[in-house]
Amino acid sequence: MIYLDYSATTPVSYDVLESYIRATKDFMGNPNSLHSLGVKSKALMNSAIKQISDIFNILESEITFTSGATMSNNLAIIGTCLANMKAGNHVIVSKLEHPSIYQICNYLESIGFEISYVDNDQDGLIDFEDLKRKMRFDTILVSICAVNSETGVRQPLKMIRQIIKKENSETLLHSDMTQALGKVTVNFHDVDLASITAHKIYGPKGIGLLYKNSRIQLTPLLYGSGHSNMLHPGTPSVPLIVAFAKAIRLATTDLDKRENFIKRLNERIIAELEKYDGVLINKTKISIPHILNISFETIKAETFLHALEEYEIYVSTNTACSSGELSTSVMAIYNDKKRASSTLRISLSHLTTTDEVNKFLACFKMVYNKLNLLKKMD
Ligand code: PLP
Repeated sequence: MIYLDYSATTPVSYDVLESYIRATKDFMGNPNSLHSLGVKSKALMNSAIKQISDIFNILESEITFTSGATMSNNLAIIGTCLANMKAGNHVIVSKLEHPSIYQICNYLESIGFEISYVDNDQDGLIDFEDLKRKMRFDTILVSICAVNSETGVRQPLKMIRQIIKKENSETLLHSDMTQALGKVTVNFHDVDLASITAHKIYGPKGIGLLYKNSRIQLTPLLYGSGHSNMLHPGTPSVPLIVAFAKAIRLATTDLDKRENFIKRLNERIIAELEKYDGVLINKTKISIPHILNISFETIKAETFLHALEEYEIYVSTNTACSSGELSTSVMAIYNDKKRASSTLRISLSHLTTTDEVNKFLACFKMVYNKLNLLKKMD
């Protein structure tokens, strides 16, 4: 098998799994319980939270565990909007967000919030002038994805935050950092709220995190018992938290070394794929090398995906969560419906080998030739 879909999800690393199993076996107490088993679990959980807060240089109280980035995005955006309804009802998002953000925006519109979509330039970079124009006295939140999941386009969050705060010091900045963590350096201090998830960084599925600056008030979306976190009540999963902490630690070390290696793989693939007629490389000056997006002019990306699957090669069309639709991200960058209608994402990891890339390229050639031949015979 050649797995080239690391942006959809990653395999759980052995060390992370080991932490999960150990915490499950040896720490069965509910961390909300008062007896010694609970106290022991709570101590382990707190040490994992401390590790995470040290890595990101944030307060332990600024961390809320969630079920994943989708829940983090919901809590960040809806929670901010509900808490700030008196200050305004305007939200700005980019055109390069994950589909979960647009679903949240649709919901917010249905309950009376107003959403503006900030433009980007031909590289996918947020149009700073348009952002300034769209900022209003009643803009309570701006949400900008750190790294776009389909094209790898990366935004300069620190600069974006400066622009926002200059226009309205009360406006909060949230960033979905799901695709940035583990690939490039992330700094939670560039934003007011940030979403991440474990399963994109070789951690388990079912746990994510919302960073929320301690000055900010959010309205909870869930109500229940358990006082360890007001924003996510209920019994915390100590094994998932411990495994997540381990995954974060592993994902934030050796970033440069990993990125340089991945860049070489990315360049090799691009150099080959550029040679094909009707294959367009959707890469801009600000794309990170881990996510490589291409468009087919005449072949259906889904057909290509399944043809590669016959060789046990796994890639994506659009994002895993919304396959089959027009790529909103490619559309936002190139404003070309044809280019956005048939896109394939090849996502790379430090686990990808040169041999896998060579096999992928050989199979790509066979599939391309076969599908083109079939097309000519149509
Ligand atoms: N945000 C981005 C940028 C993503 O790429 C994804 C997953 O593809 C999500 C959010 C959703 O993450 P989760 O599966 O943890 O809810």
